[in-house]
Amino acid sequence: MSDIQTIGVVGAGTMGHGIAQVAAAAGYQTRLCDIQPAALEKGLAGISKSLDRMVKKEKISEQDKADVLSRISTTSELSDLADCQLVVEAVVERLDIKTKVLSTLDEVCPADTILATNTSSISITKLAAATSRPEKVIGMHFMNPVPVMKLIEVIRGLATDQATYDAVEAASKKMGKTPVEVHDAPGFVSNRVLLPMINEAVFALYEGVGTAESIDQVMKLGMNHPMGPLALADLIGLDVCLDILRVLVDGFGDPKYRPCPLLVKMVDAGHLGRKSGRGFYDYST
Ligand code: NAD
Repeated sequence: MSDIQTIGVVGAGTMGHGIAQVAAAAGYQTRLCDIQPAALEKGLAGISKSLDRMVKKEKISEQDKADVLSRISTTSELSDLADCQLVVEAVVERLDIKTKVLSTLDEVCPADTILATNTSSISITKLAAATSRPEKVIGMHFMNPVPVMKLIEVIRGLATDQATYDAVEAASKKMGKTPVEVHDAPGFVSNRVLLPMINEAVFALYEGVGTAESIDQVMKLGMNHPMGPLALADLIGLDVCLDILRVLVDGFGDPKYRPCPLLVKMVDAGHLGRKSGRGFYDYST
């Protein structure tokens, strides 16, 4: 397999723009793709803002910022990712949409391009089966916010080969991250443990056990969590949380993962957390 020089990122939302930032910061040529031009603009603005904060803290220079930005190009066509040796898809957490993106990438990218997915919960084996190269498909689960969080959960599908794992492990380290290998199961480790806690916090709010503020304070002050579960749900995106819980319910067939009706209602109302300006907290000002 050729060395990785160019990385494609599909989806410029909460995760995709962060992944593009750390890839470009590591020196990779980076192509960021989204079907919505507005998402590309917002993504680039987010990267610029994040780099500005690093300049202000004197972690990088103005020149470093310019260099990182110069390595990122944007497109709304998956076919523009044909020269990438690694593509990370970070589109919405829906099997049908991810399957479509991966099968299109399979058609447009050379046979040795690695197709990684940032899915939070969906089976890597199932996603790999949508392509003709299951041995080159792998889970590369970044954490939010990507430039800050050290972990990448790396998940092999049933057919993922060792060369693909090794290449992704090396690229993860080059991006300054710590890859941790886990097995392919709904929610992997991170979301299997995290999402039931968030869902339980939403139930506590729904049942009036506490206010959003008091529930979050209990977990911060009592359990030493850096942020409360409801504020974290707002950061992740309530739609993403709901999608993951649905994958856990379907995957395990266990009603203990049933999403709280309040979470469903908030997503129906378009209250998705920080990205929509309102979730359990108000971000409109
Ligand atoms: P998001 O809704 O913020 O962004 C998704 C982006 O994908 C949107 O900009 C949308 O326009 C784009 N998109 C949708 N269909 C597309 C297509 N066919 N081609 C190109 N772009 C397309 O979502 P997000 O929170 O960034 O989540 C993306 C993925 O990362 C999901 O699989 C999610 O489970 C996973 N993830 C999310 C978090 C988190 O905290 N939000 C953490 C880890 C992993």
